[in-house]
Amino acid sequence: MSRLLFLLAIFIVVYLLLRSYRRQSPRQTPLDSSEEMVRCAKCGVHLPKSESILAGGNFYCSDAHRREHTSK
Ligand SMILES: [Zn+2]
Repeated sequence: MSRLLFLLAIFIVVYLLLRSYRRQSPRQTPLDSSEEMVRCAKCGVHLPKSESILAGGNFYCSDAHRREHTSK
């Protein structure tokens, strides 16, 4: 019985560690609505800042749009 409690304690500790780890790394939760949205300088689509590509002070939705916009 004490072994069962020991395993339960380990499980709780691991669970709490995983939870605090996720809170420290916002990239783990891309669906978080508090994520800042940015606009693609090429096509104007809105996307989460963490998924955008930053180049020359502008945000882009994809590497192709970054290249098209910066090549001009
Ligand atoms: Zn775009």
